[in-house]
Amino acid sequence: MEALLEEHKKLARKSNLSKSLEDVQNSIDLLVQARESIAADPNCARVTLAKLQAPVKQSFEAVNSDLKEVYKGLGNYSKALDKKFKDKPLPSTDHDALSSHPALINRAVAMHLLREGQFSVASTFLTDATNRPPHSEPQLRTPNSNSNPEDDLGIDSLKSEALRKQFADMYHILHAMKYERNLLPAIDWARANSKLLETRGSNLEFELGKLQFVWLFTGGPNPIDPRSRSQNQQQALQYAQRDLVHFQGRYLKEMTQLSGAMAFSPNLSQSPYRRIFHNEGAWEDLANSFTREFCSLLGLSADSPLYIAATAGAIALPTLLKLQTIMKEKRTEWTTQHELPVEIPLPPAYHFHSIFVCPVSKEQTTDDNPPMMMPCGHVVAQESLMRLAKGSRFKCPYCPNESRPEDAKRLYM
Ligand SMILES: [Zn+2]
Repeated sequence: MEALLEEHKKLARKSNLSKSLEDVQNSIDLLVQARESIAADPNCARVTLAKLQAPVKQSFEAVNSDLKEVYKGLGNYSKALDKKFKDKPLPSTDHDALSSHPALINRAVAMHLLREGQFSVASTFLTDATNRPPHSEPQLRTPNSNSNPEDDLGIDSLKSEALRKQFADMYHILHAMKYERNLLPAIDWARANSKLLETRGSNLEFELGKLQFVWLFTGGPNPIDPRSRSQNQQQALQYAQRDLVHFQGRYLKEMTQLSGAMAFSPNLSQSPYRRIFHNEGAWEDLANSFTREFCSLLGLSADSPLYIAATAGAIALPTLLKLQTIMKEKRTEWTTQHELPVEIPLPPAYHFHSIFVCPVSKEQTTDDNPPMMMPCGHVVAQESLMRLAKGSRFKCPYCPNESRPEDAKRLYM
């Protein structure tokens, strides 16, 4: 890795295009000057052109010799790259999910761009994908492709202004939080969605208010000026009296801690409350928690599925490569569908409970007998659902709610 970094440094230092650009600009200047003097006095055209010859030739040569250095640097760098990252074929599978579900892939890419706040890129991508709708490769489709969800998950829905505006709002709020240390847009959003957040058992609204209090208390935008300490505390106190007081019922303990901390000022960093007031990670944590809640109110997961899939893939790649080599050597094949013969240890955040056992039939669900969620939120396997319902209204086996079989939704895991 050292050698590679060294070549990269060299490339950036010596073999860049800035010198070539300068020399090209010199040539252009020479030509422009000549044109101007000919325009001013057409009689001197012949002399001017004659005078131009030598300098233009020189300047071309300079550009060429500059480029030589760039070519050499690039050559060395790509050699170092090849040496470090040996060319290995990617593991192949018979079923290529990427080419058989292009509409889903496009949707994931577009959603990712929207989530990242890359609105204009997302818009170009969506226009392009709509004008040239993707075609899946028919021979690679799975046998049960009739029940394919991608038809009703078309990317048309992503073009809706409403969804884009939602993400623009999210991006704006996150930007203010992360780069301007401004919590007010997030606080406004949480207040507007207070009921929904509370139903979810989220404490985001209170946590935002708490951090705003801490931020004001420790000096807000001017944290180092000790002269304004009492003024800052006054502001924080006013904020708490106005905006935090209604949290007292649910968060009495936390509120008591915040007011208890007042007694320790100006020596907070040695007080039992130092963790509340000196916590650099609080902003990042709250930004993540905000993203999670925002996405969940939109019915989306907190992390971009594309990001998760790519990261999990990158973690799995070395194992898959090794597996492929071993299988080739031993000339074996693995026949179990949708299952790998090896464990791929992914971090806990990447575990998504991909196995569901129907509580009625006690059988594990499959693609042919998928888990179905009834409007009450309880889930059973499709076959159990059909058996329970017999085509008409039926009572959920776990709660008093009644529903019709057509109201149940398929869950994808
Ligand atoms: Zn139920």
